[in-house]
Amino acid sequence: MNACDECPIADKIHECCGRFPDSGESVGFMLEGNVRVAACPHLDGGGRCSIYYQRPLKCQMHYCDGVNRDGFG
Ligand code: SF4
Ligand code: SF4
Repeated sequence: MNACDECPIADKIHECCGRFPDSGESVGFMLEGNVRVAACPHLDGGGRCSIYYQRPLKCQMHYCDGVNRDGFG
């Protein structure tokens, strides 16, 4: 478990995980209520980053107010 795992999925996608920052790639991701959104392909089915400890620098440096929870949100 890392700090970003606790971030609500809708916030996460809106804030920082709507696409893979190094390539811009995105895939479809289902939110509750059958709402389909674009998301980074590295989000797993539970909405967690599957490469968290190897994620790109742009992800590590992403600032979100309040959280960026371990300092490298
Ligand atoms: S690599 Fe991980 S932290 Fe970066 S945008 Fe994708 S899911 Fe989010
Ligand atoms: S960086 Fe901030 S908005 Fe992005 S997943 Fe982590 S806590 Fe959520």
